[in-house]
Parts: sequence; C-alpha cells; structure tokens
Amino acid sequence: MSYAQAVGETVRALRVIRGRWADLLLAIETPPADHWPPRQLAHTMRDGDDELLVEDRAPLVLREHPAPLNLGALDAGQAVERLIFNLADTLAAAVQRTEQGDPRAWLSPDPAAPDSHRAAGSRRHGLHFACVWVEGRVLDEDTAPEVELDGAISAPPYEVLPLYLLHEARRTARIAEARVLRALGLDLRETPLPEPCPWCAGELILHSAPDGPPSVTCSGARDCSAPVPLDGAERARVWGWDDLPELIAALGVDISAAA
Ligand SMILES: [Zn+2]
Repeated sequence: MSYAQAVGETVRALRVIRGRWADLLLAIETPPADHWPPRQLAHTMRDGDDELLVEDRAPLVLREHPAPLNLGALDAGQAVERLIFNLADTLAAAVQRTEQGDPRAWLSPDPAAPDSHRAAGSRRHGLHFACVWVEGRVLDEDTAPEVELDGAISAPPYEVLPLYLLHEARRTARIAEARVLRALGLDLRETPLPEPCPWCAGELILHSAPDGPPSVTCSGARDCSAPVPLDGAERARVWGWDDLPELIAALGVDISAAA
C-alpha cells in the first residue's frame, strides 16, 4: 500500500464514522430492528421525512443512557469512542506542539489522573471533533512554519505524522468504521428474506453494503416473471433501490413499521 493510499483510506474511514455517528446515537435509543425492510427505505418512503430530520434529532455526544434500547449499538458507540480518543491521544503525544489553550490542540490527558480530569480534555468535544482532529494529523495539516504579524517565524503547531503512526491511524479508523457499520446493519451482508418471491416463490436475498443502497435478488432468474432485470450473470432477478418499493408492495410488507 502506498503512502497516498494509506492516507486516503484513513480519511475515508474517519468520514464514514463521522457521517454515521448521529445514526448510531439514535440507534441506541431505538429497539434493534430487523434488516428487512431496510430502515433507509422507510425514511425515503415516508412523506416529509429526510436525512435532515435525523440530524436534527440526533444528540452529538454519547450520553449516559439510563435505559438504552439497543445494547449492541451502545457497545459499539463506546468502543468507537475509546478507539478514536485513544488514537488522538497517541498522535497528540507524538506530533502536537500546540499549547493546551490553543483551540487546535488535542489535550493529552494524564492517564494517572482521576477519571473526572481525564474526561475534561478534548474528549468533551465528542467523537466528531476527534475524527476531524485525527484527519488533520493524517493529512499533515498545520505542519508548515507560520509567519507572525511582526514577520517573525514561529514553529508550526504540529509535526509531520511519522509513517508508523499513519499505519496505526489507518488500522484503528478501519476497525472503528467496521464497528459503526456493523451496528447499523450497513456492513456487507446477505440476509434471506422471510417471504418467498411473489412472482415465482423463489428465495429472496437482501444484499446490503456500506457504500451503496441495498438490493434484493430472486433465485428464480429466467423462471421468475418479476418485472425487473437479471443480474450480469443472469442467475437472479435484481430489485435495485428504485425497484424496492414495488417489491415491498407486492410482498404486502408494512414499511412504516421499519422506521
Ligand atoms: Zn422470483
């Protein structure tokens, strides 16, 4: 893997974590859902619902949940915070030159300090800030000397990230990303649906992936008369994202229950 690839992968994983964090926090307050019908589809099929609504409702900080409804999501959220905060501590100890009062700084808490003090550092700003901060270090931002107003040159706030820490950041970000996606049911997986195909009684399989919308296939292939195309190898009928509402209607599934 080249240096640029490692940087690109790390940044992409950090952005997935940030982009899905609000969903994960909401999931903690929602009973675990079946993967079918897909939750994203329920959102798009309800009038007046959109992603903004999810963002508006989402708490941005992992709070104490007196009665979490989805322990799997809570576990994942806590594990991901630990991974990313510890990563930021490690990178800060190696490359940060900024003073603690500098808003660009990640405060490295003293591991020997009581918990109340450890929580007082940049962890207080939450996971979103931590991801942005780590991304800046991976991209070697703020590593050039700065020219002050009076013409003096001052040392940059950060040193360039050593290669071994780039690989550490990539490894940790990938693990954390996988935890988030798995908790949300967005990892790559195939789930057989409880109902057979309404057109040919073949087996229906839901395919979900982290980087695209879900699809459903029917094993009936050419014997299936469903009005959707065959896949490239002609082994299955495929309902893409735009065709899923029709399949759900044919199955008589109540989509509103999935929201
Ligand atoms: Zn079929």
